[in-house]
Amino acid sequence: MSKKQFKAESKRLLELMINSIYTHKEIFLRELISNASDATDKLYYKSMTENLGLSRGEFEIFIIPDKEAKTLTVTDNGIGMTKEELEKNLGVIAQSGSLNFKNDIPDKGEGSESPDDMSIIGQFGVGFYSAFMVSKKVVVKSKPYGGDGEAFVWTSEGADGYTVDSCSKESVGTEITLYIKDNTDDERYDEFLEQYRIKNLIKKYSDYIRYPIRMEMKKSRLKEETKDDDKPEYEDYTETETLNSMVPIWKRNKSELSEEDYHGFYKDKFMDYTAPVSVIHDKTEGSATYSALMFIPKKAPFDYYTKEYEKGLQLYSSGVMIMEKCADLLPDHFSFVKGLVDSEDLSLNISREMLQHDRQLKVIAKSIDRSIRSELKKMLNNEREKYKEFWKAFGAQIKFGIYNGFGANSENLRDLLIFYSSSEKDYATIGEYVTRMKENQDAIYYACGETFERIDALPQTEALKDKGFEILYLIENVDEFCVQMLGEYDEKPFKSIQSADLEIEDGDEKEEIKKINDDAKPLLTLMKESLGERVADVRVSGRLKSHPVCLSSSGALSTQMEKVLNSMPTDKKAKADKVLEINSTHPIFGKLKEIYENDRDALGTYADILYNQALLIEGISVENPADFVSKMCALMV
Ligand code: ADP
Repeated sequence: MSKKQFKAESKRLLELMINSIYTHKEIFLRELISNASDATDKLYYKSMTENLGLSRGEFEIFIIPDKEAKTLTVTDNGIGMTKEELEKNLGVIAQSGSLNFKNDIPDKGEGSESPDDMSIIGQFGVGFYSAFMVSKKVVVKSKPYGGDGEAFVWTSEGADGYTVDSCSKESVGTEITLYIKDNTDDERYDEFLEQYRIKNLIKKYSDYIRYPIRMEMKKSRLKEETKDDDKPEYEDYTETETLNSMVPIWKRNKSELSEEDYHGFYKDKFMDYTAPVSVIHDKTEGSATYSALMFIPKKAPFDYYTKEYEKGLQLYSSGVMIMEKCADLLPDHFSFVKGLVDSEDLSLNISREMLQHDRQLKVIAKSIDRSIRSELKKMLNNEREKYKEFWKAFGAQIKFGIYNGFGANSENLRDLLIFYSSSEKDYATIGEYVTRMKENQDAIYYACGETFERIDALPQTEALKDKGFEILYLIENVDEFCVQMLGEYDEKPFKSIQSADLEIEDGDEKEEIKKINDDAKPLLTLMKESLGERVADVRVSGRLKSHPVCLSSSGALSTQMEKVLNSMPTDKKAKADKVLEINSTHPIFGKLKEIYENDRDALGTYADILYNQALLIEGISVENPADFVSKMCALMV
């Protein structure tokens, strides 16, 4: 029979397949098995609707590697194809996703293999044609169900066309034989003939195909009669093994599954030695139909807070894995979640680009976000110790989520936040804080520093503690950025106790402080002048109890934020408007007044030392330590 040409677009696709880069090649087996499974589904469905009396147990997909002949054969006893169907289905690309695919293929320059071409192949389920990634020749024998017993064979060696001839075939169904390419210097193809490689590929991609995928495995065993000998002998034998587990764990009922089942699955699938802190198993029907099985790991992977970490859930379409890491399914704030989603609503041949615009996927992603949130909420309310552990590992990510989303996620995430509380000496939610607020308290107070102990010792905390106000201690870099993004909670604003306009004094106190400041104006102005650019203001404060000075900030940028921003590798340095506050009741204030009157030149040294002391208490290093130390010494001797 004469050779027929592929349709133009098919030819182009074939060329792409044949030249595709190595890493994508292994998916060919998934594609063939999934076609076989579809064909079996069709026959099974027909049997059920037309009472043909076929039982599910009769169906199987068989894999036959032949190392000598260098062929790999995949057979099924599904619906099969007529001659016309062989021509139509395998001669053109006119099915499902393939059509869109064609439009996305960029023009291919002579001899070039642009990375764009390659990523297309990796992202698409490319169906039958992927066989050409590993084969120099593909032979498809098929006998349709309900035909007149005739069978046909379709043969192609790639882009130059195909032939269809009649042939003999005993059973109904399809048999696809791949003549595996010869190895090249760079690429090995014969590994697709190794039984363990095949077994692993099936486990990886097709474990949950609902029909058994079988293969005759060559094995070796101890000869029973020689087992007590000095030199026991071994013999080879073959055994047919079913390579897929067929029923995915996520499709099973929760009531049938133990914690051990879930944990075992997690460890196996996601390569973690440690059991997860939480398992979320959802089966949802309605606006989106899907099963999801998700895990919250106990510890952050070593690369979690680096650019290398890739978030995402595995994506299955009706039991067939179509994407290893679908990032669009997971919001950034829950990027630590591992797991998978299986939905009938998604087509197998869907590209990453198409997925991004897929309405169904968006619905699923939204519902997953909600589900993870409610799981965490449950843990927060019922298992606080466990939640605190979780928070240590991943709390920062949720805080980043609030900050990076410019507050878009605040509403949803703020009730997951916990911060260390000065009064509870433990973590508390903002909601809990607010219910404990004093009657005369109108803000949620927080303080930033390196450790809880250091914050607790800050001069600024004294006055608030005196009034019985609770303070949240923020020790992570992202904390203050997150809290500022929130702005308020239940109409209560967040306020840093390190800010210059804290205003916790009552009316009389305020008046008094104002008067002291007015009286000391020339002194304060001179101090400010000598400190120059380093401070925005020097003033007397009523909020300090035992400490001589403290540093606060008057703008939106706090000294702590300045510190965080400047620790990042940028040229532009951030600068907070720092205010040096002096305790009006501390003897140092009297001393300063005295120096101002009698030894004005020394005031600069005093201002400098006090400013540096304030920096130290805040946990910020002094700008010129040597100078600071020598000034201190000069005063002491
Ligand atoms: P898709 O599976 O996306 O439709 P493919 O290129 O993989 O695209 O296959 C094209 C068509 O060939 C399928 O839709 C199906 O009708 C037919 N086909 C492929 N493999 C088999 C098979 N093993 N048995 C019966 N029909 C098959």
